[in-house]
Parts: sequence; C-alpha cells; structure tokens
Amino acid sequence: MNSIAPSNLVSASLVARDRNHLWHPYSAVGAPTPLFPVVAASGVRLELADGRSLIDGMSSWWSAIHGYNVPQLNAAVTAQLSRMSHVMFGGLTHEPAIALAERLVEITPEGLETVFLADSGSVAVEVAIKMAIQYWAAQGNTTRRRLMTIRGGYHGDTFGAMSVCDPIMGMHTLFAGNLTQQVFAPRPACRPHNIWNPSDFTEFAGLMGRHADSLAAVILEPIAQGAGGMWFYHPQYLREVRKICNESGVLLIIDEIATGFGRTGKLFACEHADVAPDILCLGKALTGGYMTLAATLTTQTIAETIAHKPPGVFMHGPTFMGNPLACHLALASIDLLLNTPWRNRIDDIAMLLRNGLSRCRALPNVADVRVFGGIGVVEMKEPVDMVALPNAFVAQGVWIRPFGRLVYVMPPYVISKDDLERLTDAIYAVLSAVL
Ligand SMILES: *Cc1c(COP(=O)(O)O)cnc(C)c1O
Repeated sequence: MNSIAPSNLVSASLVARDRNHLWHPYSAVGAPTPLFPVVAASGVRLELADGRSLIDGMSSWWSAIHGYNVPQLNAAVTAQLSRMSHVMFGGLTHEPAIALAERLVEITPEGLETVFLADSGSVAVEVAIKMAIQYWAAQGNTTRRRLMTIRGGYHGDTFGAMSVCDPIMGMHTLFAGNLTQQVFAPRPACRPHNIWNPSDFTEFAGLMGRHADSLAAVILEPIAQGAGGMWFYHPQYLREVRKICNESGVLLIIDEIATGFGRTGKLFACEHADVAPDILCLGKALTGGYMTLAATLTTQTIAETIAHKPPGVFMHGPTFMGNPLACHLALASIDLLLNTPWRNRIDDIAMLLRNGLSRCRALPNVADVRVFGGIGVVEMKEPVDMVALPNAFVAQGVWIRPFGRLVYVMPPYVISKDDLERLTDAIYAVLSAVL
C-alpha cells in the first residue's frame, strides 16, 4: 500500500507555486529542470521539504565555507541586528564597515590599502573596471579604456563584467552591440603541477605588444578559473602577466571572488604566484555565505590619482553600500576562518578528492579529472543531462549541481571524511550509471 507522505505534497506544492512566477539562475520560466525545495540547512546538510537530507558539495556556489547555521555567525547577525541592520553610507559611517576594511587591508596582499564595499561580485567587478578607466582618465589618458583577459574566465553577469567573460559562456554574440569589445588571450594551457612551458605565454605577450596603448587593465581569475570552465593553470603564467603589466604600464585586476578566503589552499590564490594586483575583487565567501557582500580593494596611488583630477570623486555608490549587518558578519566569518585550521582542512579535502575522483578517469565518458585545493572537477566528453543528473545525485543523498560538461564539488571546509567520501562515491556511481 503506497500512500503519499504529506511532506511530498508540501514539496510538490512549493515547486508548482515556484514555477508560476520565479526565474532561477541560468534558467527559463517553466523549464523542466528539477527543483528541490529546501526548508533548513545545518552543518553540511541541506534539509529538503520532502524530508530528505543532502550532503552539500557546492558550498552554495563557493560561499558557505563554514557550512550552514553556524553558531558564531548566527550570533554575529543577532548582535548587529539589535544595533542597526542598515543605514545609508553617504555621509555616514560605522564600526562594522571600518573594522572590515581594516581587516581586509591586513589580510590581502601588500599594497592594497583602500576598500570599496559593493553588494555583489558583479558589482565589485564593475567597480574595478571603472576604477581602472578613471585612473587613466585622471591622468589625461582617455585612450586606455579597454581590458584584456584570458578565455575561460567568468567575472559576473552585468555588462562590464560580461564583456570580459569567456565570449561563448558570456554570450557575446547575443549581446554584440551592447558589449565593449575586449582583448582575449587563449586560456592558459600549462597546469599548476606541470613543468612551466614558456611558450604558454607567447600569445598573451604578443597581444599585449599590439594593444597595450589602448588597455586600462588586465583582468583575470588567479590560478583557478571558476564558472567559465573550472580550469587550473600554472602560477608562472600569473607572474608573467604581472611582469608584462608592469613593463607596459597596464593595471592588473585580480578577481578572487571565487578563489578568495582559502579555497585553493592559500588565503588568496594570487599567493600561489606571490603576485599582488593593483585592484582586487572579493565576494562570495566574504560573509561565509550568509548575505551578499563584495569588495574592491586598490592601492593608495590609484585612489589618490582618482581623487586629484576632475571629477575628483569615484563615480559609484550603491544604495546598500557598506551594509552594517553584512559587514559585521563578514568580520565574524573572517575571524572564524582564521581561528580554524583551514589550511589543513583544504589539504585533507584535496587529498580525499584526488583519492575519490581519480577512478572516474577510467570511465569512457570522462575527458579529465582535476583537483586543486578544495575544488574537485570531473570533465565529461559531452554536456551532462540537466534533468537526469541532478535527480540521480539527490537520489544518492548529495547536492551536486553540474553545468555544461562539468561535474564538480567544492564542499564547505568543515566537511567530514565520511561525508566527503559519500560525495565522491556518488559522483562515481552516477557517472558510471549514465554510460
Ligand atoms: C561569482 C563570480 C562573480 C560574480 O559574483 P556575483 O556575486 O554572482 O555577482 C565574479 N567573478 C567571479 C570569479 C565569480 O566566481
């Protein structure tokens, strides 16, 4: 006798109501792709409305590094909420923003001394691009307005950010006419643990030679590229970029929105190359995945240059800039991170990911398996089925959301060995079954 559990009815009703009105990321209204209502989350577990519980392999897109329902972060929100949740940042200031700026300057690479607080990663990238252009304009140079980047990158969904995303992934054909034409070098080929091949940089150097006079800045994700293809490249490539930017007088914007706060085994991924940018973008894990907040840091020189020439101010100011709740939370999340053995945890996660995923190489539909820090990637030969795979993972009790040809995990740093093995076992089981 099968009776439908009430929790299944609740879940189905939430899905039906959602489908009436809501857009989801990179999705169409009414799309047939599965949708799983969540009612609670704690530690590394997501509790579904139908009563099932899933081990989280995604950290809610790189952000929930401490897991969910974290006592220290809950306490930080509550404490700040009882003082004030928000006040405008024009003409007013407050301890949470000041303390966060001090902490970010302290923990980020040498030379970054000023902080612009933004509401999302994409906005932090827009701010970085505007800073670079305004820096040159302040010196009377209005020809240095374009950006150079590498293919396979992802920097956000707004127009400026989109113009430096990989042209295919960023849908440049669809938006041609709305997007600035930027300069694209090939995706770096040399992997982090291979022997550096200097010819990997030849094309970048050639493009820089031809375009430097029109470039405000180079922008890229350091060592680990995220949503544009989950690709990892050799630190020497980043050193070469820094060197050629110095020689050509072009600024370097490093986008650590995905890689920042320990994910790759260094606090910031540019530390793998011992390189410091002129402008740094942070976001995602900044508040431990609790609220949206991002930051763009830059040097005193760039800040002063912008201040000294008309209009004499930086032309950007979001309504929710410096939101006290988010700032106080970010500070608590950074403290929590720095007070935990995050480096050992990432090393352990990397080892378990290697052990657990390498057997996928033997599957005939798998093109590549790669692990870097707390990121494990199985690249398939064909795009995955976005109905069958999510359903299969949920049936295995794990939350893993593939995209394109990529099945990947980046679990919260606090995940246990057993739970991590359940993630990698589920990937092997599901990918074996789709043969
Ligand atoms: C996610 C991401 C962004 C955009 O951040 P949003 O908060 O989604 O706007 C920009 N750059 C990188 C590297 C990212 O991973």
